[in-house]
Amino acid sequence: PLSLLKDPTLLKTDALIDGQWLKGPSRFDVHDPATGMKLADVANLGPRDAEQAIAAANAAWPAWRGKTAKERSLILRKWYDLLMANQEDLGRLMTAEQGKPFAEAKGEVAYGASFVEWFAEEAKRINGETLPQFDNNRRLLVIRQPIGVCAAITPWNFPLAMITRKVAPALAAGCPVVIKPAELTPLTALAAAELAMRAGIPPGVLNLLPADGANSIAIGKVICASDTVRHISFTGSTEVGRILMAQSAPTVKKLSLELGGNAPFIVFDDADIDSAVEGAIASKYRNAGQTCVCANRLYVQEGVYDQFVQKFAAKVRTMKVGNGFEEGVVQGPLIEPAAVDKVQKHLDDAKAKGAQVVTGGSRLQGQFFEPTVLSGATGDMLCAREETFGPLAPVFKFKSEQEAIAAANDTEFGLASYFYSRDVGRIFRVSEALEYGMVGINVGIIATEHVPFGGVKQSGLGREGSHHGIDEYVEIKYLCVGDV
Ligand code: ADP
Repeated sequence: PLSLLKDPTLLKTDALIDGQWLKGPSRFDVHDPATGMKLADVANLGPRDAEQAIAAANAAWPAWRGKTAKERSLILRKWYDLLMANQEDLGRLMTAEQGKPFAEAKGEVAYGASFVEWFAEEAKRINGETLPQFDNNRRLLVIRQPIGVCAAITPWNFPLAMITRKVAPALAAGCPVVIKPAELTPLTALAAAELAMRAGIPPGVLNLLPADGANSIAIGKVICASDTVRHISFTGSTEVGRILMAQSAPTVKKLSLELGGNAPFIVFDDADIDSAVEGAIASKYRNAGQTCVCANRLYVQEGVYDQFVQKFAAKVRTMKVGNGFEEGVVQGPLIEPAAVDKVQKHLDDAKAKGAQVVTGGSRLQGQFFEPTVLSGATGDMLCAREETFGPLAPVFKFKSEQEAIAAANDTEFGLASYFYSRDVGRIFRVSEALEYGMVGINVGIIATEHVPFGGVKQSGLGREGSHHGIDEYVEIKYLCVGDV
């Protein structure tokens, strides 16, 4: 698939430090999850390279923060234009290494690029404040300054968007960045970094360190221990988020964490069922169920339960599974064999505890799994407690609104939630009662660049996107001017 790139020079396999492309001390392989075939071997950087990248970023910081907001904005805007001009090629790299259908991959390129566009604009709006003085001989001001060298550690499920969502606000605020992309999907990240260089981002301001699993852990330790790195933004599992938080305690580092979810998707008796079915399909099966905001638990009220399950399963049966480059495919492979095993484990557990398979239920060849619907799901099943991160939709039955809210909130996670209702009172009651950072009401897809994305409880810290997204990358400084 990579021989079809319109611009073959976007296939970068070396690391980027201080504007130089480096082969690295060793290499690691990147595979196509649809075929298992090797796509490329990529520079495998270690802790010493991480130290070098942090030093390069720090050296590049004064000149970058010294640019005017408008100068930084124009460079970011150029990066956005280049990402969009190369949407097809970036999508191709993404489908090849990540597996999501090509149309969905191109959609992610547009979504990922939109953060660069948005923060190019926000760069010009990092305003300060003047406050009323408490004494007429003084003036009180608040300025917002770039926090310093930032690190971004990103996952494989959105190989581009999880990078731009962190890097664009950092650059807009005047911070240099060191990026450690997921070991399974470094090619999209490297192509985006190449386009950043073409856009005129100066050497050292954006550094990208691909690394295999073991080296990622070692680099993570260097980043956390560094006094020069002032901020880490991480998207990934709650488990790794906890490790990074613990490792960052000695340097009291500022952290933005976007961790696991366990999204409830509630359908009340008064919902528009066809619309709820559409929303459930989009929310559950996007990226083969591998997003932290995918519906994990479907709660349907007893009056519409059978109707919903039947209509939902009928739609799921029409979904075409296969290689993401094939026409009409809406669900690609899962990212790795362990991901397939997890879906199988949740399915076996649910069946053993009394759930029925309404459609799907089988592992296909390679890393493919049928989109599956289960009825009769109950709270004691693994799929009620853990994020499946795959194409398995357990449907739970409930009686009252209170029961649904209690079940939805009965988890340590609090990222996305969804519900369907046409009762205006209920819409406000339930929205306010759900302990989640985001609530989709009569809709299954909620993310876009100008809204605050993030979770509560153990789903994380901070918000990405929107005008709040810049806050993570600036420090507030209070100036008290006397002798006026
Ligand atoms: P996922 O569920 O997306 O695989 P992970 O949390 O395992 O999530 O990985 C997300 C990112 O975190 C990847 O870039 C991975 O290399 C990195 N990572 C995993 N373990 C560590 C660690 N101990 N320290 C630093 N980074 C890590």
